[in-house]
Order: sequence, then structure tokens, then C-alpha cells
Amino acid sequence: MWIPPGHPRRESLLIREKLVEGFKKGLVAPEGLIAHGRGECFDYLIGESTQPFADRAMNAAVAALLLAKHPVISVNGNTAALVPREVVELAREVNAKIEVNLFYRTREREEAIDKWLREHGAVEVLGVGEDASATIPELFSERRRVSPRGILVADVVLVPLEDGDRTEALRKMGKTVIAIDLNPLSRTSRAASITIVDNVVRTIPLMVEKAKVMKKMSRSELESVLREYDNNKTLQEALRHILSRLGELSSSKLTLF
Ligand code: ATP
Ligand code: MG
Repeated sequence: MWIPPGHPRRESLLIREKLVEGFKKGLVAPEGLIAHGRGECFDYLIGESTQPFADRAMNAAVAALLLAKHPVISVNGNTAALVPREVVELAREVNAKIEVNLFYRTREREEAIDKWLREHGAVEVLGVGEDASATIPELFSERRRVSPRGILVADVVLVPLEDGDRTEALRKMGKTVIAIDLNPLSRTSRAASITIVDNVVRTIPLMVEKAKVMKKMSRSELESVLREYDNNKTLQEALRHILSRLGELSSSKLTLF
């Protein structure tokens, strides 16, 4: 589909196109398209740009990944469709494993995502087929199936576009959970250790850049980035940002003509 260069919703429409393409390729579940819509709404409220609270959360996230013994990046259909190359790059920069984890798991979809990630440079993709042989306690969806070499033994897990139940389950297992979620009110956002309230399409490329710089920092410097981070403050700031933006907008002229 051709979208005029000056169209005000151009970026957003291009992202939709990627998801629709991903759906046609068998990467994205129909429910994933709807979940994206919920994210879009919050992106609209945030202003469709990375805010300082998200940037600070990304610093803490990269520090946690670099300090981790067994970092894992969990990938679902939407993430694979939107940022496959960047996920592979991030995994390389922080030395993390990539694992497929799907709410609506089918063999076809996990294999399609595996193939797609390999086409974008991944050397190893966990959580596909027999590899997803371990189970996370307290979970009833297909999200509970994980790789015994990946999420099961991970100390830090990056979960872009996660479900609330699984975030809670991973926290209860003692893991540091980094979420990317545009909705600061979701259970995922509130249960994660570090919540990046931003769009995954902006976050992952920025984290790659940050990782390239931060991997030169000493362990104690990274530890202090992590120590100074407060996730409750991040979520409060995200809500205050939305509130003040809407406050300003509600006292300005809104009609176009
Ligand atoms: P939770 O299960 O955490 O309570 P939920 O049930 O409201 O959340 P889900 O349907 O489980 O939401 O997952 C969709 C979530 O993913 C939404 O919170 C939405 O904000 C977020 N999301 C969708 N697309 C993106 C995106 N491109 N970048 C970041 N977040 C996104
Ligand atoms: Mg949910």
C-alpha cells in the first residue's frame, strides 16, 4: 500500500502494514493485530515519541541485560514481525539468547518465527518444537511452555509485549523481568521489574545503540545505573506525562477548520 510521505499517520500506517504482512506470513496471530490496536491507542496518548521516563528505563534495562548471567529475549509474533533484525542485533550486543514464546502457540507459527528470525541473522532460536519442553508454574496458557536452556534458567528476561499473567509468574520465579508496554496501567507494566513505556519499534533499536555504548562501562557503573532506577516512579511519570499532555490539549484549539 502506498502512503503519501507527508501523511500525519504515516509511521503508524507503515507499522500496521508490517503487522498485516506478518499475519499473512503466519508470524502474527489474529489476536496480535487487536493487541496492537490497544498499544496504538496509548502511543497516541504518549505522543508517539520516546519520553525521558522510557529512556531511563531503557538504561536500566540494558544495564540489567549486560550484568545478567543468563539473559533471554522472549519473542512473540508481533515483535518478530516488527523488529526481527533489531532483536537479533540486541541479542548479539548483550550476549542474550532468543526464545520464541507464544500465547497462541502452534507448531506452524513457532516454526515460521524461527525461520524468519534466522533469515534476519539469528544463529540459535530457543523455544521451538521439542525445545519448549519445560513448564513455568502457575500458568495456564501456552505461554507457560519454555526452553530448559532459555527462559527456565534465565536470570533476566526481556519480554516485549507480554501478558500480565506470565510477567507475574516470571517474577515469582525470582527473575528480573523487563517489559516493553505502551500501556502504563497493564498488569505487565505493573508486575515487571523494569517497564519501558514506549513502542517496541522505537525501543529495540534504541536499546541496541545503548548496549553498544554501555557495554564499555564497568560492572560497578552498570550496577549503580540499576540501583538508582525506580520502576514505580517510571509508571507515575508515564501517567503524569499523559495527564499533562491531555491537560494542555484540552485547553487549546482542537478543530482543524
Ligand atoms: P496485561 O495482560 O499485561 O494486563 P492486556 O491484557 O491489557 O495486558 P495484552 O492483550 O495482554 O494486554 O497485550 C497487549 C499489550 O501490548 C497492551 O498492553 C499494549 O499496550 C501493548 N502493545 C501492543 N503493541 C505494542 C507495541 N508496538 N509496542 C509496545 N507495546 C505494545
Ligand atoms: Mg493480557
